[in-house]
Amino acid sequence: MYLGILKETGTGESRVALLPESLKALVAQGIDVTVQSGAGSAAGGSDAAYAEAGATVTADRGAILENADVLPVVNALPAQEQGRLKPGAVMIGFLKPLDDPGALTMAIARKVTLFSMELVPRISRAQSMDALSSMATVAGYKAIVDAAGMLPRLFPMLMTAAGTIPPARVFVIGAGVAGLQAIATARRLGAVVEAYDVRAAAGEQVRSLGAKFLDVDLGGINTEGGGGYAAELTEGALDRGRDLITQTAGHTDVLVSTAQVPGRPAPKLIRRAAIEAMRPGSVLVDLAAPGGGNCELTKPGITQIMRGVTLMAPLNLPAAVPVDASKLYARNILNFLGLIVKQGVLHVDLTDEVLAGACVAHEGNPANPRVAKLLEEAETAQ
Ligand code: NAD
Repeated sequence: MYLGILKETGTGESRVALLPESLKALVAQGIDVTVQSGAGSAAGGSDAAYAEAGATVTADRGAILENADVLPVVNALPAQEQGRLKPGAVMIGFLKPLDDPGALTMAIARKVTLFSMELVPRISRAQSMDALSSMATVAGYKAIVDAAGMLPRLFPMLMTAAGTIPPARVFVIGAGVAGLQAIATARRLGAVVEAYDVRAAAGEQVRSLGAKFLDVDLGGINTEGGGGYAAELTEGALDRGRDLITQTAGHTDVLVSTAQVPGRPAPKLIRRAAIEAMRPGSVLVDLAAPGGGNCELTKPGITQIMRGVTLMAPLNLPAAVPVDASKLYARNILNFLGLIVKQGVLHVDLTDEVLAGACVAHEGNPANPRVAKLLEEAETAQ
């Protein structure tokens, strides 16, 4: 069995799907691992380290594409490269099947089996494969560190002979995995932290990190979707959150927003008025930018300065911490591979709940009903 590790080609992408340290278990099973030269160079995996771990390192990307039985990736390959894969090969990664299913049609037509790390079900058996949580953890941390670097103030309270400096005030919207990591990081740096989430269950977690949870009376509506995710709210309920955010923004130095509802555009929660209420020098990091952003002024991928407030809308913050982001991702991938590769032999059993949940396409057909519907709609629209 051939397993290929390619250098990612996306703009700004510096992560790699598997690191040298991940290869031991694969090579021990007799799997032939081939790595494109330079694949891990930004992520702490030199060619020499891959070779030492038992891989073949080559500059011939085409050979890897054409021979691989299993291709773990960070991002989906471009269409023309999908067309070079072997029928029956398996590609696993952040394939964006619900955001951009059309980008996978070539691989589907080529009868490549596609597994999406975004669709791994949130059940306890699959926790070690939860790459979304791994990346959200990195992004939450980095958002605070970047904001602290931009802020013209200090985070901790300082009592010095020259007087006292008050602590920075951080406000986190959305207390999921990224939000909780942002809260923990901001607390470690000494900031005073407030947080808001529509899920009441988030309150306890926020308080356990030493932050204040801001409660909004949403009239007892159900705010919980499946798998710990939030449900989509009515405009009325969203408005109550928007009011709270505008009020809180006035005394906030750093606002990190992470609110998302799976499969939907990010809810617009931060009005222009909230940004106008922030003091000059304060910073917003809109981590929901890949889904359009939580702020109505957000331009995904672009940093703006408005009335002295810096609005950051990073599209791929985990790639700014490639070594540890790749370490976590590689472990998630390796655990996933454990479900489809047994004693060096590839065996895809779609009766397994995790594989069935994560499978986007198999043997030329979309395996996920939501993806199938989206592809059908796209075809009819043409
Ligand atoms: P996410 O990235 O989908 O969303 C981030 C946060 O935004 C969520 O907490 C959500 O409630 C919040 N949000 C959505 N709409 C909002 C609005 N209008 N206003 C304010 N906040 C809003 O979520 P996530 O980070 O992936 O995690 C969500 C939950 O799932 C967390 O409690 C997490 O601990 C849990 N989780 C469970 C598992 C598991 O069971 N295996 C794995 C990972 C995470």
